Amino acid sequence: MNTQEIAELHKQYVMPTYAPGLALVRGKGTRVWDAEGNEYLDFLGGIAVNVLGHAHPKLVKAIRQQAARLMHVSNLYFNENQPRLAKALSERSLGGKCFFCNSGAEANEGLFKLARLWGHAQGRHEIVAMTNSFHGRTLATVAATGQTKYQKGFEPMPAGFVHAEYNNLDAVRAAVTDKTVAILVEAVQGEGGVVPAKPEFLAGLRALCDERNLLLLCDEVQCGVGRTGKWFGFQAYGIQPDAFSVAKGLAGGFPIGAIVAGPKLSDVFQPGNHASTFGGNPLACAAALSVIEAIEEEKLLDHAAAMGELFMAQLRKIAKKFKFIMEVRGLGLMIGMVLDRPAKPLEVLLREKGLIAIATHDTVIRFLPPLNITAGQVRKAARIVKAACAEWTARGLA
Ligand SMILES: *Cc1c(COP(=O)(O)O)cnc(C)c1O
Repeated sequence: MNTQEIAELHKQYVMPTYAPGLALVRGKGTRVWDAEGNEYLDFLGGIAVNVLGHAHPKLVKAIRQQAARLMHVSNLYFNENQPRLAKALSERSLGGKCFFCNSGAEANEGLFKLARLWGHAQGRHEIVAMTNSFHGRTLATVAATGQTKYQKGFEPMPAGFVHAEYNNLDAVRAAVTDKTVAILVEAVQGEGGVVPAKPEFLAGLRALCDERNLLLLCDEVQCGVGRTGKWFGFQAYGIQPDAFSVAKGLAGGFPIGAIVAGPKLSDVFQPGNHASTFGGNPLACAAALSVIEAIEEEKLLDHAAAMGELFMAQLRKIAKKFKFIMEVRGLGLMIGMVLDRPAKPLEVLLREKGLIAIATHDTVIRFLPPLNITAGQVRKAARIVKAACAEWTARGLA
């Protein structure tokens, strides 16, 4: 099928929640091809999902072998991949236990239930979340999300979420009441426009939680799994939450989500409290285990940090030449180029020139490339960004 045929079929049978722009049919590493055979450099990585790029041999092999052996058994039976993955996550983070599910929103829902169950006996249930945050599209995660555009039309929102200004410790402190059980934060806000937390903010939240006996919960769905150059975003700040959610990059493109808890929250859920039919099945866990192994074998944490520095340095040079670029910010390979105007037209120009990245939060171009991009690909992407900015200016649009 060509792009037009795919688009027409899609339009007829798929609910129009998205407005896809390309029909991608094949990928290899950081490159993808559309139905007409055009090649693109993929600096979106399936929205921070494809941490190993496309068709990584180790991930492909793990999925192939596990699919042929045992794909799914339900959680009524042990499957060794699940505790092996839980151990791998625990050893790289909080030293406690995990719960597996299938997406970021589902992981966050579970995190909220875990916090509520922990605080229930003391009559505490309220979660303080941040303005500008993003936590998913289910009802509770939309309620937790601090952007009203995602809530509009779906009211009434589930109760129990209040919002305080991100990176403003006094605002969070003022939002805490006798009913508060937890504080929920992204170390680097993703959908909110790639906004890293200030170090003193996260350190302050940890201290506030200790002082008021609150849980600190991190949403690592986008900034986790090596994205920031550390396994998890909060590790770049030297703090430990009581639990966090993870999903997007965890199995490199295979759907999975998880709650990772520290010792304090590891045994709060008891049989019957929470569940997920598909969660942690042998196939998803085999995929995730292969991703963790590949990140370590290929030393991709340090590599991601170095490539992020390189790309940000190049983008900052470009920013000096174009006055519509206000700022380049990010951490590791989670990078935002902030414009003084809507970024969508630039996203389209980049794509026309062979670079996939997306406009987010209206004025920000977001780059979330695979962790194993090469320095050559970073330079090529920077050249495309520069050319697109020049054309935008030449066309009199900027
Ligand atoms: C994408 C995202 C989610 C939602 O994940 P889904 O898998 O789409 O449900 C939650 N939190 C953050 C920070 C995200 O970026």
